[in-house]
Amino acid sequence: MERARPLPTRRRLLRGAALAAAPYALLPGTRAGARTRAPDHPLAVWHPAHAANYTPANRPASHPVDFVVIHVTQASYATTLGVFQNRRKQVSAHYLVRSADGGLAQCVRESDIAWHAGNWDYNIRSIGIEHEGWVDRPGCFTDVLYERSARLTASVCDKYGIPKDRAHIIAHYEVPGSDHTDPGPHWDWRRYLRLVDRA
Ligand SMILES: [Zn+2]
Repeated sequence: MERARPLPTRRRLLRGAALAAAPYALLPGTRAGARTRAPDHPLAVWHPAHAANYTPANRPASHPVDFVVIHVTQASYATTLGVFQNRRKQVSAHYLVRSADGGLAQCVRESDIAWHAGNWDYNIRSIGIEHEGWVDRPGCFTDVLYERSARLTASVCDKYGIPKDRAHIIAHYEVPGSDHTDPGPHWDWRRYLRLVDRA
Protein backbone atom coordinates (compact mmCIF):
# COMPACT_ATOMS: atom_id res chain seq x y z
CA MET A 1 0.00 0.00 0.00
CA GLU A 2 3.01 2.26 -0.21
CA ARG A 3 1.90 3.57 -3.56
CA ALA A 4 -1.32 4.91 -2.21
CA ARG A 5 0.42 7.41 -0.03
CA PRO A 6 1.84 9.93 -2.48
CA LEU A 7 -1.37 9.98 -4.50
CA PRO A 8 -3.64 11.75 -2.01
CA THR A 9 -0.88 14.23 -1.32
CA ARG A 10 -0.49 14.93 -5.01
CA ARG A 11 -4.25 15.15 -5.42
CA ARG A 12 -4.47 17.61 -2.55
CA LEU A 13 -1.79 19.74 -4.14
CA LEU A 14 -3.54 19.70 -7.50
CA ARG A 15 -6.86 20.48 -5.87
CA GLY A 16 -5.32 23.38 -4.00
CA ALA A 17 -3.86 24.73 -7.21
CA ALA A 18 -7.18 24.34 -9.01
CA LEU A 19 -9.06 26.13 -6.26
CA ALA A 20 -6.56 28.96 -6.24
CA ALA A 21 -7.12 29.42 -9.96
CA ALA A 22 -10.91 28.93 -9.91
CA PRO A 23 -13.25 31.87 -10.13
CA TYR A 24 -15.16 32.53 -6.91
CA ALA A 25 -18.44 31.12 -8.21
CA LEU A 26 -16.94 27.66 -8.68
CA LEU A 27 -15.76 27.23 -5.11
CA PRO A 28 -17.60 24.42 -3.29
CA GLY A 29 -18.76 26.73 -0.53
CA THR A 30 -20.76 28.83 -2.97
CA ARG A 31 -22.38 25.89 -4.71
CA ALA A 32 -25.60 26.02 -2.70
CA GLY A 33 -25.96 29.64 -3.66
CA ALA A 34 -25.33 28.82 -7.29
CA ARG A 35 -28.25 26.36 -7.19
CA THR A 36 -30.74 29.10 -6.51
CA ARG A 37 -30.13 30.71 -9.90
CA ALA A 38 -32.81 30.88 -12.59
CA PRO A 39 -34.63 27.61 -13.38
CA ASP A 40 -33.44 25.50 -16.32
CA HIS A 41 -36.74 26.03 -18.16
CA PRO A 42 -37.86 29.61 -18.85
CA LEU A 43 -41.48 29.01 -17.79
CA ALA A 44 -40.61 27.30 -14.50
CA VAL A 45 -40.63 28.80 -11.03
CA TRP A 46 -37.91 27.56 -8.69
CA HIS A 47 -39.29 25.58 -5.70
CA PRO A 48 -36.23 23.63 -4.56
CA ALA A 49 -36.53 20.16 -3.07
CA HIS A 50 -34.67 19.59 0.20
CA ALA A 51 -31.01 18.80 -0.49
CA ALA A 52 -31.49 15.45 1.31
CA ASN A 53 -33.97 14.36 -1.40
CA TYR A 54 -31.77 14.24 -4.50
CA THR A 55 -28.18 13.54 -5.56
CA PRO A 56 -25.95 16.36 -6.78
CA ALA A 57 -24.36 15.57 -10.13
CA ASN A 58 -23.05 17.23 -13.24
CA ARG A 59 -25.28 15.81 -15.94
CA PRO A 60 -25.05 15.39 -18.86
CA ALA A 61 -21.24 15.31 -18.40
CA SER A 62 -21.43 12.88 -15.45
CA HIS A 63 -24.32 10.76 -16.79
CA PRO A 64 -26.11 11.00 -20.16
CA VAL A 65 -29.78 12.00 -19.98
CA ASP A 66 -31.71 9.43 -22.05
CA PHE A 67 -35.29 9.45 -20.77
CA VAL A 68 -38.17 11.62 -19.63
CA VAL A 69 -40.27 9.83 -16.99
CA ILE A 70 -43.93 10.91 -16.77
CA HIS A 71 -45.58 10.80 -13.34
CA VAL A 72 -48.88 11.67 -11.70
CA THR A 73 -48.60 12.89 -8.11
CA GLN A 74 -51.63 11.29 -6.37
CA ALA A 75 -51.57 14.49 -4.29
CA SER A 76 -52.18 18.20 -4.74
CA TYR A 77 -49.57 20.56 -6.17
CA ALA A 78 -48.98 22.17 -2.76
CA THR A 79 -48.76 18.82 -0.96
CA THR A 80 -46.27 17.54 -3.53
CA LEU A 81 -44.02 20.59 -3.11
CA GLY A 82 -44.19 20.00 0.65
CA VAL A 83 -43.19 16.35 0.23
CA PHE A 84 -40.17 17.33 -1.88
CA GLN A 85 -39.16 19.87 0.76
CA ASN A 86 -39.44 17.32 3.58
CA ARG A 87 -36.04 15.71 4.14
CA ARG A 88 -37.63 12.56 5.60
CA LYS A 89 -39.58 11.75 2.43
CA GLN A 90 -36.52 10.85 0.33
CA VAL A 91 -38.26 11.67 -2.93
CA SER A 92 -38.15 14.42 -5.54
CA ALA A 93 -38.72 15.17 -9.22
CA HIS A 94 -37.18 17.79 -11.49
CA TYR A 95 -40.50 19.39 -12.40
CA LEU A 96 -44.10 19.57 -11.22
CA VAL A 97 -46.96 20.75 -13.46
CA ARG A 98 -50.11 22.20 -11.88
CA SER A 99 -53.46 20.91 -13.13
CA ALA A 100 -55.59 24.08 -13.16
CA ASP A 101 -53.29 26.44 -15.05
CA GLY A 102 -50.22 24.49 -16.15
CA GLY A 103 -48.08 26.32 -13.59
CA LEU A 104 -44.61 24.82 -13.67
CA ALA A 105 -42.35 24.32 -10.66
CA GLN A 106 -38.74 23.23 -10.92
CA CYS A 107 -37.64 21.37 -7.76
CA VAL A 108 -34.30 19.80 -8.78
CA ARG A 109 -31.79 21.11 -11.31
CA GLU A 110 -31.59 19.05 -14.50
CA SER A 111 -27.87 18.53 -13.85
CA ASP A 112 -28.71 16.81 -10.55
CA ILE A 113 -30.30 13.37 -10.03
CA ALA A 114 -33.87 13.51 -8.72
CA TRP A 115 -35.27 10.51 -6.84
CA HIS A 116 -38.45 9.75 -8.75
CA ALA A 117 -38.19 6.54 -10.77
CA GLY A 118 -37.64 4.04 -7.93
CA ASN A 119 -34.73 2.64 -9.97
CA TRP A 120 -31.27 4.16 -9.65
CA ASP A 121 -30.25 3.22 -13.17
CA TYR A 122 -33.22 5.22 -14.49
CA ASN A 123 -32.91 8.05 -12.00
CA ILE A 124 -29.38 8.82 -13.13
CA ARG A 125 -30.39 8.92 -16.80
CA SER A 126 -33.73 10.72 -16.69
CA ILE A 127 -35.66 13.89 -16.10
CA GLY A 128 -38.73 13.29 -13.92
CA ILE A 129 -41.89 15.32 -14.53
CA GLU A 130 -44.73 15.10 -12.01
CA HIS A 131 -48.28 16.13 -12.96
CA GLU A 132 -50.75 17.21 -10.33
CA GLY A 133 -53.60 14.69 -10.34
CA TRP A 134 -54.79 11.20 -9.59
CA VAL A 135 -54.60 8.24 -11.94
CA ASP A 136 -58.38 7.61 -11.65
CA ARG A 137 -59.41 11.25 -12.19
CA PRO A 138 -58.96 12.09 -15.88
CA GLY A 139 -60.40 15.58 -15.28
CA CYS A 140 -57.09 16.53 -13.67
CA PHE A 141 -55.35 16.14 -17.01
CA THR A 142 -56.34 19.52 -18.41
CA ASP A 143 -55.50 20.95 -21.83
CA VAL A 144 -53.09 23.42 -20.29
CA LEU A 145 -51.38 20.68 -18.23
CA TYR A 146 -50.79 18.61 -21.38
CA GLU A 147 -49.62 21.62 -23.37
CA ARG A 148 -47.25 23.03 -20.76
CA SER A 149 -45.81 19.62 -19.98
CA ALA A 150 -45.35 18.79 -23.66
CA ARG A 151 -43.45 22.03 -24.22
CA LEU A 152 -41.20 21.19 -21.29
CA THR A 153 -40.60 17.63 -22.50
CA ALA A 154 -39.87 18.86 -26.03
CA SER A 155 -37.27 21.31 -24.74
CA VAL A 156 -35.66 18.61 -22.55
CA CYS A 157 -35.53 16.25 -25.55
CA ASP A 158 -33.98 18.95 -27.75
CA LYS A 159 -31.41 19.85 -25.09
CA TYR A 160 -30.15 16.30 -24.49
CA GLY A 161 -30.81 14.74 -27.92
CA ILE A 162 -33.55 12.43 -26.60
CA PRO A 163 -35.79 10.96 -29.36
CA LYS A 164 -39.38 12.19 -29.00
CA ASP A 165 -40.94 8.73 -28.89
CA ARG A 166 -42.49 6.29 -26.43
CA ALA A 167 -39.22 4.40 -26.03
CA HIS A 168 -37.69 7.51 -24.44
CA ILE A 169 -40.67 9.40 -23.02
CA ILE A 170 -41.87 6.75 -20.62
CA ALA A 171 -44.40 6.18 -17.87
CA HIS A 172 -43.32 5.60 -14.30
CA TYR A 173 -45.03 2.19 -14.51
CA GLU A 174 -42.70 1.30 -17.40
CA VAL A 175 -39.55 1.74 -15.30
CA PRO A 176 -38.20 -1.75 -14.57
CA GLY A 177 -38.99 -2.84 -11.03
CA SER A 178 -41.54 -0.05 -10.52
CA ASP A 179 -44.60 -0.89 -8.43
CA HIS A 180 -46.30 2.39 -9.40
CA THR A 181 -49.16 2.69 -11.90
CA ASP A 182 -48.79 6.35 -12.83
CA PRO A 183 -49.66 8.15 -14.99
CA GLY A 184 -52.41 5.54 -15.30
CA PRO A 185 -54.85 4.50 -18.04
CA HIS A 186 -56.36 7.97 -18.60
CA TRP A 187 -53.12 9.65 -19.62
CA ASP A 188 -53.53 10.32 -23.36
CA TRP A 189 -50.16 9.29 -24.79
CA ARG A 190 -51.11 9.85 -28.45
CA ARG A 191 -52.17 13.37 -27.69
CA TYR A 192 -49.12 14.02 -25.51
CA LEU A 193 -46.62 12.75 -28.08
CA ARG A 194 -48.35 14.81 -30.78
CA LEU A 195 -48.04 17.92 -28.62
CA VAL A 196 -44.37 17.16 -27.88
CA ASP A 197 -43.72 16.76 -31.58
CA ARG A 198 -45.38 20.07 -32.43
CA ALA A 199 -43.90 22.10 -29.59
ZN1 LIG B 1 -44.47 8.25 -10.37
